[in-house]
Amino acid sequence: MFQRTPSQTVRPSAARLRALAVAAVAAGTGAATLLGAGVAAADEARVAPLAATSATTTAVAGQAKAQSKAAATARQAAAAKAASWVQPVARYTLSAGFGLGGSMWSHKHSGQDFAVPSGTPVSAAHGGTVVKAGPVGAGDGPAYGNAIVIRHANNTYSQYAHLSKINVRIGQSVATGERIALSGNTGNSSGPHLHFEIRTTPNYGSAVNPVAFLRTVGVRV
Ligand SMILES: [Zn+2]
Repeated sequence: MFQRTPSQTVRPSAARLRALAVAAVAAGTGAATLLGAGVAAADEARVAPLAATSATTTAVAGQAKAQSKAAATARQAAAAKAASWVQPVARYTLSAGFGLGGSMWSHKHSGQDFAVPSGTPVSAAHGGTVVKAGPVGAGDGPAYGNAIVIRHANNTYSQYAHLSKINVRIGQSVATGERIALSGNTGNSSGPHLHFEIRTTPNYGSAVNPVAFLRTVGVRV
């Protein structure tokens, strides 16, 4: 007379768990965690009855589904962030606006001023390539102090001026929201602030209203 041993009973279910772990790896979602869960469950299966192992299998499958959904959500959020624009500084008071005249400027004011303490982190408003970075407005004139210009898609450029510290170099790729500088009071500046322009070329003289532009890309300042 034959009697089935516990090890014979559980071997197939342990194999099923390993198959599930392999399937999770193939799916590419939460692979490391799922593989770990599968191996742990397989060890347990050597002593556990088949019913309990089935429950574990169901739990692991549920975990795989939840992790897959979370990964998809994270991918969507990352894609949305890459596509969008952000404010160049997080906390600020709007000061001089675009197009103002007066003694501060030899021409009308070419950007939007964000009043912030010196040393405030300045972010790239959008991903792109640094095309200007340096003192004397990076070539646009001493009034700007230390400045950066970033090239974006569709003949759009963003400019950041009066900086106390520049953290990027010409030719560098930057991501949306990446810190590129610290704000300051260099050049012809009435007090610590970030001067921010949106241009249609890399150079002075091609600025458009940056607040109106940001509104068209969903950013209100
Ligand atoms: Zn300004």
